[in-house]
Amino acid sequence: MLRGVGPALARKLERLGLFRVDDLLFLLPLRYEDRTQLVKLGALEPGCRCLVTGEVLLAEVVYRGRRNLLVRIGDGSGQLTLRFFHFSRQQQAQFQIGVRLTCFGEARKGSVGIEMIHPEYRLLREDQDSAIDATLTPIYPATEGIQQGRLRSLTDQALLMMRDSPPAELLPPDVRETLDLPPLAEAILYLHRPPADADVTRMLEGKHPCQLRLAFEELLAHYLSLLELRSQARLQPAQSIRGGEKQIARFIAQLPFELTKAQQRVIAELLDDMAQPHPMMRLIQGDVGSGKTVVAAIACLNAIASGVQAAIMAPTELLAEQHWRSFAEWFAPMGIEPAWLSGSQRTIARRDALTSIADGSAKLVIGTHALFQEGVTFHNLALVVIDEQHRFGVHQRMALREKGVSDHGYPHQIVMTATPIPRTLAMAAYADLDTSIIDELPPGRRPVATIALPETRRDEVIDRVRSACLAGKQAYWVCPLIGESQVLDFEAAETSYDMLTRALPEIRVGLVHGRMRAVEKERGMQAFKEGQIQLLVATTVVEVGVDVPNASLMIIENAERMGLAQLHQLRGRVGRGKTQSHCVLMYKPPLGQLAKTRLAVLRDTTDGFVVAQRDLELRGPGELLGTRQTGLPDYRIADLVRDADLMPQVQVAAEVIRRSPDRATAIVRRWLGDTDRYGKV
Ligand code: ADP
Ligand code: MG
Repeated sequence: MLRGVGPALARKLERLGLFRVDDLLFLLPLRYEDRTQLVKLGALEPGCRCLVTGEVLLAEVVYRGRRNLLVRIGDGSGQLTLRFFHFSRQQQAQFQIGVRLTCFGEARKGSVGIEMIHPEYRLLREDQDSAIDATLTPIYPATEGIQQGRLRSLTDQALLMMRDSPPAELLPPDVRETLDLPPLAEAILYLHRPPADADVTRMLEGKHPCQLRLAFEELLAHYLSLLELRSQARLQPAQSIRGGEKQIARFIAQLPFELTKAQQRVIAELLDDMAQPHPMMRLIQGDVGSGKTVVAAIACLNAIASGVQAAIMAPTELLAEQHWRSFAEWFAPMGIEPAWLSGSQRTIARRDALTSIADGSAKLVIGTHALFQEGVTFHNLALVVIDEQHRFGVHQRMALREKGVSDHGYPHQIVMTATPIPRTLAMAAYADLDTSIIDELPPGRRPVATIALPETRRDEVIDRVRSACLAGKQAYWVCPLIGESQVLDFEAAETSYDMLTRALPEIRVGLVHGRMRAVEKERGMQAFKEGQIQLLVATTVVEVGVDVPNASLMIIENAERMGLAQLHQLRGRVGRGKTQSHCVLMYKPPLGQLAKTRLAVLRDTTDGFVVAQRDLELRGPGELLGTRQTGLPDYRIADLVRDADLMPQVQVAAEVIRRSPDRATAIVRRWLGDTDRYGKV
């Protein structure tokens, strides 16, 4: 469709996500260069990227280790040297004395005054004025093998085509007016070819009204699609679950603690939802240690009491097994034994589990993602609980939901996350879910005292571990996370384990890492839980959900390499008992600025919401939500951190636009394509 696009170029364009002419319009420049004015050679400052013009005064090839072509130009106000390391004979011949040329490049201080290395240049005919551009020059995101010049000429064509058939303006005028956003076609043209006087600083910040115009529509598209998903889900039938009050009351009465107000409120919300004849889809947010598990248990009990099945899915075997243990203990007095399902299970055990799940004798099933795999058939699954939801994608969430589809409709769904998500981000990411927040920790919890120490003070830290363990406390020693590699993780853990067993002969040290078999891991954790092990050396397998209240000291090695959210999760393993807990963040000096800021955040607060907000600012939403796993869509233009403040307005606009379904569909289609990236409900 566009001139000059053959199959090879088309493939390269596809790598940039460009499939149609319209896509080019939505590929925004990363930055701009100013070729709209000439800078006098006498006024050139090092560091300035600019357009200059001049006459060749001298051209010579010199040898400084390698061949250099130096071209001296002058314009009466001053001189500039152009330096080329790669040049052809023809090129060399072009630079005749007296020839005029225009150059664009970065001025820098060189050995012979100010110079430009490999500038873009154009020779001028005698009668020709130096050509300055009418608009700023866009610099597009690069992809291998596509030159900026090519991208510019392609967008030139696309912009020309846009003049004749502009993309539909899908934002209603009143929405645009309230927010003072320019029309779509105008915004697109402006961003691709900004006028010479455009506010470039603002554009680089991504805060220009033209950028906001596009970001707004994109956020809106994603939000609308989630709302659609949500309303479709709500239309479906589900079993109304009620009548478990008596059993629940009895269960609560025999708990060794009293539920917090926040837990009670969330439980009421869950029971209320479950009583509806439509599927609940609720997200429970609660900081580490806020007691989400018992809340989930009560929802499960509610289901079981009315004769239907409940399932709990956790992201790791370790965590799933721990849930299994807690639930088995809690529910034993009621004669309910949870069934177990995991990937590493032996065949016979698995077969038994599958049978009891299928015939309904297993009322409660706990496991990993093995739960929604093929071959698992539930008898009457009516409640699905997904723990640490950020580890699972929307698709996995939906897949488990499918398992529960029956004549009675869809199962109710609870997803739980310990990663508190700032409100605006939650709006964008989880608009398909209702949200409950457990915003209170059980009483008596004392904030974990956190310090950061350079690893040169390791000996002191080891002494500290020794005295804590000798005083009857327990400690975690968490080993460096080395990239993505489980092998390296495990080697690092073994090394630390050897070092610590030698340094602490009087302490019982254990080891758990990601490469151990599930049973071994569990054996290690169990020994730690029962106090046979005093110091547990672990990789980040302890990150999610492990609960050993007597552990009150945590050492984290190479903390500077870990993300805030992860450190917060890890730290949440201590501070669960009555005693004051401590966390030592060990780092390899010198610390970079970002790492310094991160460690300071942890030192200064134990509030998960504050940590999350700072994490969002420092690292972006992908890390926080675990984009890689969640399948949270990539945004083309919007940035969930930078544009978070648009979300409340997006929400308002979405309510208006949903009243015109055609318009809503068109917006979603423009930004998300025809394929529904969230999967069908
Ligand atoms: P998380 O929200 O991080 O999953 P857990 O459910 O693992 O937290 O609970 C952390 C610990 O707090 C557990 O030992 C649990 O038994 C305990 N707990 C939960 N609720 C209360 C409460 N209301 N009072 C005291 N302890 C509680
Ligand atoms: Mg938990």
